[in-house]
Amino acid sequence: MADGGATLLSRLATIVGGANLLAATADVAPYVTDWRGRYRGAALAVVRPSSTAEVASVVRACAAAGAPVVPQGGNTGLCGGATPRERGDEVVVSLARMNRVRSVDADNATLTVEAGATLAAVQTVAQEAGLAFPLSLASEGSCTIGGNLATNAGGTAVLRYGNARALVLGVEVVLADGSVLDLQRSLRKDNTGYDLKHLFIGAEGTLGILTAAVLALHAAPRTRTTALAALASVADAVRLLRRAKQALGDRLVGFELMSDIALGLSRKHHPGTPDPLPGHPWYALLQADDSAEDPRLAERVEAMLADAIERGEARDAAVARSGAQAAAMWSARENISEGQRREGPNLKHDIALPVSAIPGFLDEAERRLAAAFPGVRFVVFGHLGDGNLHYNLSAPEGTEHASFIAPANLERAQRIVHDLVAARGGSISAEHGIGQLKRAELVRTKAPLEIAVMKRIKAALDPAGILNPGKVL
Ligand code: FAD
Ligand code: ZN
Repeated sequence: MADGGATLLSRLATIVGGANLLAATADVAPYVTDWRGRYRGAALAVVRPSSTAEVASVVRACAAAGAPVVPQGGNTGLCGGATPRERGDEVVVSLARMNRVRSVDADNATLTVEAGATLAAVQTVAQEAGLAFPLSLASEGSCTIGGNLATNAGGTAVLRYGNARALVLGVEVVLADGSVLDLQRSLRKDNTGYDLKHLFIGAEGTLGILTAAVLALHAAPRTRTTALAALASVADAVRLLRRAKQALGDRLVGFELMSDIALGLSRKHHPGTPDPLPGHPWYALLQADDSAEDPRLAERVEAMLADAIERGEARDAAVARSGAQAAAMWSARENISEGQRREGPNLKHDIALPVSAIPGFLDEAERRLAAAFPGVRFVVFGHLGDGNLHYNLSAPEGTEHASFIAPANLERAQRIVHDLVAARGGSISAEHGIGQLKRAELVRTKAPLEIAVMKRIKAALDPAGILNPGKVL
């Protein structure tokens, strides 16, 4: 930009109002660093539009000036997708002010909401309508629906309800030329040509800016049972999962696996978290819901766990007796990421495998990584119910974290983990996306034709490459 972007800045100020254009370094700072503190970029400005029309005008102005645009929601993403690059010529478009509910249709079980609404706010609106929006993430207080759809977020209830993609019926998107593609249909069946909305879900802001979504709601749970099982091995966890599915059917909403080390970091950095079953290598956290009042749900869960213990598949179990006990079990799980962050930077992998392949993968990965990084700590947890593990590596106790996460180590660890994952038909990103973190690994692990088709789609929708460049592809 010949004038250092001054013309663009004044145009943007006219569109969103001076108060919603941030250009001073201190104001921009929170928007150019990611949640983990792993990526630090720079931006010409941050704009905070309040309507779809403003987003469209912002994109048109940026496109005319050749300035790349980085969409941002709650900035809780874990792959650097919402962080601009270091060049300083990009404009961050924060959707945070676009948080209105457009409509609620309880009979159709749908909710139309702007992209900047937080997931927690959407859950509350659904509840107030006597229904539920079942997407559930530890970051739900700050992540946004736009970010959830752009990353096709998963979380703790995918086992029963699917990921974000399964919970959206329509979207409104601003395209790279500033036109507004209105796909806000609230239909569960619609076979009228290509299903365009799915192009934008999981695209991490590289194909368009989501400005609103029509979300599918579900019956609200009336009965809930939460339980913790202590396990000798991950193979036992897989057996318990199978038993729980058989006993509970689709009442089984969540089945989370946690290693002793992962829970230990959660507790270390959140003192006071109860430890109901101390001293086992692995744990499974189960949640069962019923949309009807069912006083026997807890009994069913207990009987299933007693059976597992009798057969030697579980060592011990505890069923939450109160909402407070259930909340404590969940907070130990949900605080793992934060505990790990406070412990120091780490190498993260977000992998998906057939559930049956997970025990073998873990054995082999541990062997190879322990040889490559003596003393490495395996912080393993995740959504075993849907085959998704957060397979994270922390520096050996007492060593320096910053050098442990050096690019050479990241690359080496990613290669070991992702090669084992690929060999078992798995995925290198189950739910967090590619962002900047896994771009090279995407190319390494996908067939060239798959990448080529993705590039053709990108070129068709964003020929000038102004939407979130340097991410995904
Ligand atoms: P951001 O971080 O702002 O953006 C993420 C990506 O989406 C970026 O590429 C950005 O450009 C793009 N984007 C954002 N908004 C839009 C938009 N309106 N239009 C187009 N593109 C957009 N994720 C899971 O899937 N499951 C989990 O269980 C989970 N647990 C987490 C726990 C913690 C403690 C934390 C910090 C994160 C967790 N995450 C999890 C990751 C993160 O919360 C999700 O990826 C979330 O969906 C991101 O939403 P966001 O609004 O913060 O998006
Ligand atoms: Zn997760």
